Amino acid sequence: MFNKLIASILPYFPKKFIWIFSRAYISGETMADAMKASKDLNSQGIIVTLDVLGEFIKTLDEAEENKKEYLELIEETEKQGIKGNYSLKPTSFGLLIDQEACYLQMREIVAKAASYNNFCRVDMEDSPCTDMEIALYRRLHKEFPKNVGLVIQAYLKRTYGDLEKMLDMNTPEIPTSYRLCKGIYVESPAIAFKKYEEINQHFLEDLEFMFKNKIFVGIATHDKPLVDGAYELIKKFNVPKNMYEFQMLYGVTPSLRKSIVDKGHSMRVYVPFGKKWFGYSTRRLKENPKMASHIIKALFYKG
Ligand SMILES: Cc1cc2nc3c(=O)[nH]c(=O)nc-3n(C[C@H](O)[C@H](O)[C@H](O)COP(=O)(O)OP(=O)(O)OC[C@H]3O[C@@H](n4cnc5c(N)ncnc54)[C@H](O)[C@@H]3O)c2cc1C
Repeated sequence: MFNKLIASILPYFPKKFIWIFSRAYISGETMADAMKASKDLNSQGIIVTLDVLGEFIKTLDEAEENKKEYLELIEETEKQGIKGNYSLKPTSFGLLIDQEACYLQMREIVAKAASYNNFCRVDMEDSPCTDMEIALYRRLHKEFPKNVGLVIQAYLKRTYGDLEKMLDMNTPEIPTSYRLCKGIYVESPAIAFKKYEEINQHFLEDLEFMFKNKIFVGIATHDKPLVDGAYELIKKFNVPKNMYEFQMLYGVTPSLRKSIVDKGHSMRVYVPFGKKWFGYSTRRLKENPKMASHIIKALFYKG
């Protein structure tokens, strides 16, 4: 209740005040801020994935603007020698306005990343987007099998079936690449597991499926029991280091993150930046009021 109340009133607070809460999770407003944060993480042996904040657009002109920002970002990241790749939210490129136009915008970004031998991750959004985002990923993967991957949400009941269906894209020469996360959107119990134990059980089943089928996986979680579960599976299947990495969000659980890095596992941090941080922060809070308590906790202690 308290979280819900905070989430609903925060958007009416002054922007400067919200920034106090949000800055732990967002690297800054500018590309220079994101470069600085990425260099800092790189110096700790952590690679990054960069995200320009800008979902929920209303026009294709905004999609064009977002694409231009990503093209600029790729040039800058490569120029500065940052060790990192790119995360793309299809709705930022017009998925909900015109699927074909969205594909063309994203294709240009993936082609640019591919020209540097780099990689783009297609983020997974809420359930009305799932089929469209899988289709988009399939199409991009056909042309750029080494340069594009998808996010998989363990909380969706359909996910294991989706993984089985997508096996046709996986080859020993070019393994498919997924980021496995729990899923952040509020979904109906008809289509999503809701209980913590259920979600974790399916997360580990999906992870096992990926290891068994020699799929590359970014294990995206801050949940210690899942990290421990992943360690066990890595050991059980003797997974080589080039077939997995751990992933975390910028500013979240740095001490768990360090413990994973110290054990010699590869770690990638999701670094969001951009002028649209206000919408991102307040929308995230509305989507998942549980975030409010994390944000409030972050005011008092780190990690
Ligand atoms: C790299 C990355 C990319 C992601 N991409 C997507 C995506 O494309 N689509 C999607 O739906 N979801 C995405 N997510 C979000 C994900 O689905 C979860 O909602 C989020 O990671 C929280 O789940 P958890 O596994 O950390 O477990 P939880 O059970 O939610 O959290 C475990 C513990 O981690 C800590 N924690 C978790 N989140 C926070 C926070 N924000 N601040 C402070 N502490 C926190 C708390 O201590 C908590 O008890 C991504 C997550 C990561 C790490």
